Amino acid sequence: MRFDLLTIFPEFFSGPFDFGILKRARQQGLIEIVIHDLRSFTFDKHHQVDDRPFGGGDGMVFKPEPIFRAVESLLADSPAPESDKRTAIVLLSPQGRLFKQAEAQRLADECQRVIFICGRYEGVDERVVEHLITDEFSIGDYVLTGGELPAMVMVDAVARLLPNVLGSETSAVYDSFSVASDGLLDCPHYTRPAEFRGWRVPDVLISGHHGEVAKWRRRVSLEKTRQMRPDLLAQALRQGSLSNAEQRWLAEREQELQELQTDLKQDSES
Ligand code: SAM
Repeated sequence: MRFDLLTIFPEFFSGPFDFGILKRARQQGLIEIVIHDLRSFTFDKHHQVDDRPFGGGDGMVFKPEPIFRAVESLLADSPAPESDKRTAIVLLSPQGRLFKQAEAQRLADECQRVIFICGRYEGVDERVVEHLITDEFSIGDYVLTGGELPAMVMVDAVARLLPNVLGSETSAVYDSFSVASDGLLDCPHYTRPAEFRGWRVPDVLISGHHGEVAKWRRRVSLEKTRQMRPDLLAQALRQGSLSNAEQRWLAEREQELQELQTDLKQDSES
């Protein structure tokens, strides 16, 4: 897959793609990452990419012309489309659809190329949103100074899902949010030593009982999801992904916790 990143700060990207799995994937030709300076698509002598907003107000807005010119020139030298794969033109924006694992998987499955437009200042002229891009993504409900970090996050999340990028084909399969994990959070992981500062690894993990280990992992994954992300658990329940035994176990846990809370309240009142 090829990733093109349009930015006014090309140097921003020196480093993050030069380590670990992404570095190896680039060296092996599994992914290609190309950084483009948006200013090189301007024709005025100051290479101006932004201007004051119509209607007044603070901050500057990215002009449409350099962005359209850049994307159109990238598309013009696209390689012939590979089978049914498409090119996504992504604007990073706090107003976009929330970027989740399912979106990363969709881009990894459907695209041969993703072009990212990194905004700055107040953002980009709305005509870019209306007439150029295919997707507008936010990486979370907070506002950053620019789209460069979100673009890096997205490249990383998509690239690791591509065939052969991770060492083992199964590494990403049971990650948090994955389809195989029913959208739940991953279970906790432990490694040697079995005891560290008096804290022991759960016995089941060193029991050698694969069936029991799998059962334990699923239980703690359910418990962690219940505590940290009840929204994901509710979604898994709605989709019918939990077995009857799991639903019973969760209901029992919920009741135990409610009883504990009632006891604590009574203790503090007496
Ligand atoms: N005025 C915009 C608003 O309130 O929605 C915020 C603009 S922000 C300061 C500048 C640029 O940073 C945006 O154009 C976008 O490219 C990027 N950006 C900031 N927060 C982001 C987020 N949560 N997700 C994706 N991109 C973001």
